[in-house]
Amino acid sequence: MKEPDTDKSGADANMVLPPTAFEFDPARPSVFWASADDPYDNTRKALANIDISPSKGKRVLLKPNVGRNVKPETGITTHPQVVAAAIDAFKEAGAEVAVGESPIAGVTMLEAFENSGITAIAEERDCQLIDMDVRPFVTSKIPDGAAIKSLRVCREISEYDIIVSIPVMKTHMHTGVTLSVKNMKGCLWRRSKVDFHMLSPLAGCEDKPLDIAIADMSSVLRPHLSIIDGTIGMEGLGPSAGEPKPLGIVLAGVDAYATDAVACGIMGISASDVPHLRLGAQRGCGVIELDSIDVSPEDWRDVQNSFALAPDQLSIEFSGFTILDEQSCSACQSTLLMFLRRYGKQLRDEVSDEKDIVVAIGKGHKELPLGTLCVGNCTAIHRNCGVFVSGCPPVASEILSRFDPYTLRQEG
Ligand code: SF4
Repeated sequence: MKEPDTDKSGADANMVLPPTAFEFDPARPSVFWASADDPYDNTRKALANIDISPSKGKRVLLKPNVGRNVKPETGITTHPQVVAAAIDAFKEAGAEVAVGESPIAGVTMLEAFENSGITAIAEERDCQLIDMDVRPFVTSKIPDGAAIKSLRVCREISEYDIIVSIPVMKTHMHTGVTLSVKNMKGCLWRRSKVDFHMLSPLAGCEDKPLDIAIADMSSVLRPHLSIIDGTIGMEGLGPSAGEPKPLGIVLAGVDAYATDAVACGIMGISASDVPHLRLGAQRGCGVIELDSIDVSPEDWRDVQNSFALAPDQLSIEFSGFTILDEQSCSACQSTLLMFLRRYGKQLRDEVSDEKDIVVAIGKGHKELPLGTLCVGNCTAIHRNCGVFVSGCPPVASEILSRFDPYTLRQEG
């Protein structure tokens, strides 16, 4: 792991990513895929179609999805053999390669890399692993941003010549899918990732500010190459509380939007129905119309395997609980979901009467009933309504330790 750097200078420098060094036709991009038993071979086969020789002598930063501290078979983090294949391909092309990630709050990068299996494959290859939250951020201005005008970006993004996004093929409870465009949100520094979830709606605009902000981000923070890991994807309540979806496929492309669009097609989802992809494509960030993308091999529809989408309401799945969710973000939702899955029945049994346990998350509540379990810092102003669990996001063990059936029965 990289040693902490306490240098605070340059935090206000305006980071601008150079255009991709890899050849492609912006009007008719190509996307390549491979599907067999071995994720390493799939990745090498898909990448073999792209001339990555311009990476010779360059510094390449691989950005997988390792935002959570889980095992690879969960379908939450990028498969280590996909990362291994990318390291090998770029090293063979003569590049200096590192793997970097900035995890969600509460996750220790070192542990997450270890648990994901990426530490082992990186050590075998003498490849540097970087906790991108350690050093000071750089600022990237977004002059045309609709929801946001600047980003706090992890410093490494400005220091490497080539950024490769390597997400897992997943549905997402707030953004429809999370693929190579959305994966770049993991390059935002520390808690600035959460800022996207706290924006006010834009007047006269039906799209969620979160989706608009991702499209804003994408106008200045697009990967130079995308590798999408569908070895074990995730459907339903992604990005972390859904069901693993083994597909055994890997896609690669220079245009992140085109690569995401083909991945969406394989997932049975139209990219035009994914707001951040539609909005970004409308701004000219990439191509999402499948008729305008050359997919190779051409018979990709034979491997289509529809993903279940994330349900809109968490409360649907938990009888005995009423979830009041106003403007929360996925971090709070997934924490609450995992908490309920783990302890919901047990806690329901502790409360003897028939009434639902009321749980509130998010910042948009005007008032809450007495006896509400208020989860997350966003609900702090209602702390006197019942039981308040701090944290942003809160952790499940804290919710459990604060759970007090007596106070939660004090309804007005
Ligand atoms: S408290 Fe929850 S909803 Fe609020 S910003 Fe934090 S994680 Fe998001």
